[in-house]
Amino acid sequence: MRVLILGGDGFCGWPTALHLSDRGHDVAIVDNLSRRNIDNELEVSSLTPIEPLGKRLQAWKDVSGKTIGFHRFDVAQHYHRLLSLLQEFKPDAVVHFAEQRAAPYSMKSSWHKRYTVNNNLNATNNLLAAVVEAELEDTHIVHLGTMGVYGYGTAGMKIPEGYLRVKLETPDGLVDQEILYPPNPGSIYHMTKTQDQLLFAYYAKNDKLRITDLHQGIVWGTQTAQTKLDDRLINRFDYDGDYGTVLNRFLMQAALEYPLTVHGTGGQTRAFINIQDTVRCIELAVKNPPQRGERVQILNQMTETHRVSDLAKLVSVLTGAEIDYVSNPRNEDKENELYVENRQLLNLGLDPITLADGLLQEVTEIARKYKDRCDLDKIPARSTWTHNQKPGEPTVK
Ligand code: NAD
Repeated sequence: MRVLILGGDGFCGWPTALHLSDRGHDVAIVDNLSRRNIDNELEVSSLTPIEPLGKRLQAWKDVSGKTIGFHRFDVAQHYHRLLSLLQEFKPDAVVHFAEQRAAPYSMKSSWHKRYTVNNNLNATNNLLAAVVEAELEDTHIVHLGTMGVYGYGTAGMKIPEGYLRVKLETPDGLVDQEILYPPNPGSIYHMTKTQDQLLFAYYAKNDKLRITDLHQGIVWGTQTAQTKLDDRLINRFDYDGDYGTVLNRFLMQAALEYPLTVHGTGGQTRAFINIQDTVRCIELAVKNPPQRGERVQILNQMTETHRVSDLAKLVSVLTGAEIDYVSNPRNEDKENELYVENRQLLNLGLDPITLADGLLQEVTEIARKYKDRCDLDKIPARSTWTHNQKPGEPTVK
């Protein structure tokens, strides 16, 4: 298959490009390198020493003999570049990662809110409009969405895969119908992902585009089978307060013998998936498109749920690190339960890697190995959800 990967230089996109190329697909990447520029803006860099994209691609050629194409442009702004690339490359599948993906970054200031909305919504709409204009009727669009579109207050109900069965009251009695699960975003970033869902639903209905939306949990881990093959292929590892996801922050803090900072009581429950499973799920999704005229296929791409305070305890047991409870910069419920339906990817053959299997290796192979590259000042979360809120102050002991 010919697969175009939008955002193929990023944390999920790079290992996906390598995985699909390794499987024999003809892969090309589009990226505007905005993620690397955001590192410059935040004065932080990946814990792992990532190479420039040209060196990464040369390393892959050296190791595998395979070539991955690269096109540097902004999907949200350069519509005609995207259109002509689609017309020339005629991809069987487009995997769309090209969005600003950090909730804290999206809440930093009004500029960051507006950037995230403009970037994410225009990138998605440009892709959909260009696939229609290029008359790529069979091209399958696979988008990386987030579990965060559901919100976390489900009153104990298992979150279904995208659609909610409801009963409508009509003059003829109650009628069953499935609707998109009511969105409940917790940040501007998550809000863009809920809007993406409407764009997908509309283009699937109006233009019969074939679309899969993967509602992904928080990704943990760094390396995949391919990124391990050569140091120049190493994946990025973000540990800073804006882009570092909760588990990476704990791993980093543990490696530095720094207390693990739990926000609030740590009673929030979240969904997780390992990066190796991410790339496998994307391959499964690419190979199993919906038919033309079918509604958007939504799969919950997560493998386990954990309460944040339990995660901290797990890392603490593995490493001996202390736990520090600090005030929560986010505007969210103090505690929530989370039950998630994820049968579709399991039925397609996913065999998940669990935290219990992989966590220790991650601490020793990545966090401890590169700890000297860490800038301690960058670990605390500094973006806040509301005005006049001071992040990171100790509250509960
Ligand atoms: P990332 O920031 O590492 O990668 C995104 C890539 O897209 C970057 O290389 C960036 O330069 C590029 N990009 C952004 N806007 C672009 C544009 N307008 N034009 C061209 N390129 C652009 O993020 P990631 O962690 O790899 O996440 C990828 C996708 O997966 C995101 O859409 C995110 O919402 C989703 N996701 C990620 C996680 C996670 O834990 N990392 C969890 C759930 C969902």
